[in-house]
Amino acid sequence: MSKDNHGGFLASVNRNFDKAAAVSNLPEGLLAQIKECNSVYQMRFPVKIGNDYKVIEAYRVQHSHHRLPTKGGIRYSQKVNQDEVMALASLMTYKCAIVDVPFGGAKGGVKISPREMTVPQLQKITRRYTAELIRKNFIGPGIDVPAPDYGTGSREMAWILDTYLSFKGGEIDAAGCVTGKPVHQNGIQGRTEATGRGVYYALKEAVSYKDDMAALGLETGMEGKTIAIQGLGNVGYHTGVICQEEGGSIIVSVAEYEGAIYNKKGIDIKALFKHRKETGSILDFPGAKNMKQRKRVLEVDCDILIPAALESQIRVDNAHKVKAKIVAEAANGPITAEAEEILLKMGVMILPDMYVNAGGVTVSYFEWLKNLSHMRFGRMEKRFNQNTYLNLVGLVERLTGKTIGVKERNLLTKGADEIDLVRSGLEETMITSYRQIRTILKKRKKIEDLRTAAFISALDKISSDYMALGIFP
Ligand code: GLU
Repeated sequence: MSKDNHGGFLASVNRNFDKAAAVSNLPEGLLAQIKECNSVYQMRFPVKIGNDYKVIEAYRVQHSHHRLPTKGGIRYSQKVNQDEVMALASLMTYKCAIVDVPFGGAKGGVKISPREMTVPQLQKITRRYTAELIRKNFIGPGIDVPAPDYGTGSREMAWILDTYLSFKGGEIDAAGCVTGKPVHQNGIQGRTEATGRGVYYALKEAVSYKDDMAALGLETGMEGKTIAIQGLGNVGYHTGVICQEEGGSIIVSVAEYEGAIYNKKGIDIKALFKHRKETGSILDFPGAKNMKQRKRVLEVDCDILIPAALESQIRVDNAHKVKAKIVAEAANGPITAEAEEILLKMGVMILPDMYVNAGGVTVSYFEWLKNLSHMRFGRMEKRFNQNTYLNLVGLVERLTGKTIGVKERNLLTKGADEIDLVRSGLEETMITSYRQIRTILKKRKKIEDLRTAAFISALDKISSDYMALGIFP
């Protein structure tokens, strides 16, 4: 927990909210309604572990019901507490609004250390937690839809769906009660990489503006940009791989639980992942230097810093040591509100969490739509499009008297598969949202940073919903 502010993470999120609210021109009552968490469900349940019973502390917070269902991941961590889950649920509301995903925000948390548990124990806890949610009407495709977060993944989502089905087997849309499921169990292609891919699309768009980059002393484009990543979990790993393989960027430093490494010439993320699997550590990776403290990753010389681990990592005590020109918050809340002020004074561009890491919930939305439609994306139109393109290519060949090569023909006539549509939908979402935020930053007086602009984008949309309901003037 940060020493920066007295309430920690939740206070930091609320402080950022207040900063934006002050320049929003919205009625005070409406702002208060948006800011507060609507429902907080705190639960305790016993689980037999070995010969003992352990009492598990867990939460589900629904921050805003202005759109339903509510949506957000479930976190398994020993550090889970009510304030943290409330802060994360609040961020989900703003995140969904920014990327036009029609959900309210929610988040779950179970206070356990998954590393220290066996798979059957984790399964037992997940199923019991789901049963508690069902009992209180806190889960359902039209009510509240969980997803993976720190410490959980597709395996846990499959257990949640199975538990839900055993209570509500006859519900036609039951598969939409949770997202991030394995692909063969009503999941969607591209959900696992989605947050990391979204971070890449966000960065690619942000570094494409000449004047913005010139102000930072950088060239446009991802090619050759040096990057440091804190955390090699699902988000950090996919961000690194995609920036490297599709963007041509150079990952100079990576940090994990056991330490950090540095190589000016670049670290191959896939090879590093394999090395960690084999040796149990990222340290001693061929060609890279070990760094004594894992937090040093935040201070290395690079163009882009990507904190992809937990909240409150950049604080008043280390913010001034950041050398990156751009910080992309792949994690939720990695910069405290106080540290942000320091970074902004230093001229650092901060791409805020509620925009940058919204790729996960965006593809969750696609998965939910797939579940409600009971059909994979692309099934109806792929062949039709393919045949149309083939006819067009044939026509061009006949008219010109020339033949198009096989490789080119395949590229030109391909109909979209589910993964192509998911990636295209995600890219479109990240680009459109960035342009909205950037326009607010450039056009609206008194708004000086991207986080405040992102908040304003969210507040404008959420308040329109409330006003349409006639609850507020
Ligand atoms: N846990 C992810 C987040 O913080 C994904 C949430 C979701 O897909 O619902 O955005």
